[in-house]
Amino acid sequence: MSAKPSDLAYVPFVSVHNMMRLIHRIGIDEMLCGIAAEIEADFLRWEAFDKTPRVASHSADGVIELMPTSDGDVYGFKYVNGHPKNTRTGLQTVTAFGLLARVDTGYPVLLSEMTILTALRTAAMSALAAKHLAPKGARTMAMIGNGAQCEFQALAFRAICGIDAVRLFDIDRAATDKAMANLADSGLTLTACDSPEAAIEGADIITTCTADKQYATILGDNMVGAGVHINAIGGDCPGKTELHRDILLRSGIFVEYPPQTRVEGEIQALDPDHPVTELWQVMAGSAPGRTSRDQITLFDSVGFAIEDFSALRYVRARLDDTGLFERLDMIADPDDARDLFGMVQRARQGLAGGIE
Ligand code: NAD
Repeated sequence: MSAKPSDLAYVPFVSVHNMMRLIHRIGIDEMLCGIAAEIEADFLRWEAFDKTPRVASHSADGVIELMPTSDGDVYGFKYVNGHPKNTRTGLQTVTAFGLLARVDTGYPVLLSEMTILTALRTAAMSALAAKHLAPKGARTMAMIGNGAQCEFQALAFRAICGIDAVRLFDIDRAATDKAMANLADSGLTLTACDSPEAAIEGADIITTCTADKQYATILGDNMVGAGVHINAIGGDCPGKTELHRDILLRSGIFVEYPPQTRVEGEIQALDPDHPVTELWQVMAGSAPGRTSRDQITLFDSVGFAIEDFSALRYVRARLDDTGLFERLDMIADPDDARDLFGMVQRARQGLAGGIE
């Protein structure tokens, strides 16, 4: 009896290296648009999903989270961390990996890096929300916080919303210079700014994407004029927000999944029954999006499990064509399903025979 795993026991694995090759094979614009389309399709079947706020383990330095969901056929989860101090020692603030499995057998069908994929899906989700909420004809975006997510956000807003100018600000000028250099060939008109006030001048969309484990005030109330759309990415944890509370009180607020956003989002600063609109309802046409030219719309983004599920399914669907994966020997698969121990014993005989 052989201990060699069957095909089902080999799990396709997308490494960081292969994720980067996949992006270049497909093209980043097409990939951002494709992931946005998957997310929108999944938001349109919102009721089909198991939904739960993510399970978070907080420490003084950051947070480690698990984000599960299922549509009844496929189950998925992401492991993700958020450690704002990491960049001081050369580590990423956010790293992630994720898995999809069949619901009927429980067998995994994909394991993937998700540090890069999270940046893609977060940008795709932000731009998708803006497509439904931003003022018509929006062309200029302010980008406050020019770290790891920044260029992905800029490119998604270009590809999905038609943004053609980005005004960048970061407290660390080196981050802005890095983003300016990375986006130099993007066709976007780029302006490096010396203050958040300068960055938001003339912007139709304001993206805040900073990392700090505190109640920060990246945008003060007097900075935000009528009619803008705010894409607030960085406030995504209890005790970690970016906007002055008065901005929230003047805005139409749109969220992914209220039970999670009430704990993690900008709206943690508001009463628990403050009205918010679920984005999936705007997409489905069952709730209004922007109601007037002068309204301030706010996407209080925290990142929800269904977005990761959609992104993983997008990647999974491209593996057969591209071959950009490895096969991991990850699931023990004895020929006799109940003889797991016998398989282990026979492996010892094999090892004694010099097979390692
Ligand atoms: P990063 O650490 O790479 O970049 C953050 C940048 O913010 C840094 O360049 C830093 O200098 C800058 N910054 C900090 N305080 C600032 C301030 N007051 N004004 C201007 N700039 C400031 O982090 P990242 O990976 O780009 O992530 C950014 C934030 O987005 C994090 O808080 C992260 O948790 C969050 N995030 C949210 C989602 C989501 O779905 N909502 C997904 C991914 C990341």
